[in-house]
Amino acid sequence: MYQDPEYDKYAFDQEADVDCESRLDTCKAVCCKLPFALSKQDVEEGIIRWEFGRPYLIAHGDDGYCVHLDRKTYKCTVRDHRTVPCRGFDCRNNKTWHVWDDYEKKILNPELEKRIDRDNIKIYSSCVSNKS
Ligand code: SF4
Ligand code: SF4
Repeated sequence: MYQDPEYDKYAFDQEADVDCESRLDTCKAVCCKLPFALSKQDVEEGIIRWEFGRPYLIAHGDDGYCVHLDRKTYKCTVRDHRTVPCRGFDCRNNKTWHVWDDYEKKILNPELEKRIDRDNIKIYSSCVSNKS
């Protein structure tokens, strides 16, 4: 599975304008639990890790987070090389995931984490033995 359409991530100019820094205490980078496919550029570059059992989905740890997330700070450890979905994800009015019940008041959707976990279990369950 590859991203389609594919964009050059280093020329991608539609980065979401979200002030993550001020929200990490609340959201705990929940978007870094979402499943998505890498691009050929990501795979060929060899920095972003993918699931061996589910090529080429982003690799998740047993806690459901992307392996590249620093678990203490909730910051991305490969920020300069992060994927196009990471760059473009806009949690403000996201119709697919409905991240926030109220974005301005920083109220997360209480069902979101459960929903993401359910989706990840479905997608990643057969490749648990590949997780670090
Ligand atoms: S994009 Fe949204 S959910 Fe993801 S880290 Fe930033 S504020 Fe949190
Ligand atoms: S690559 Fe970085 S921004 Fe993207 S999901 Fe992983 S930790 Fe989050």
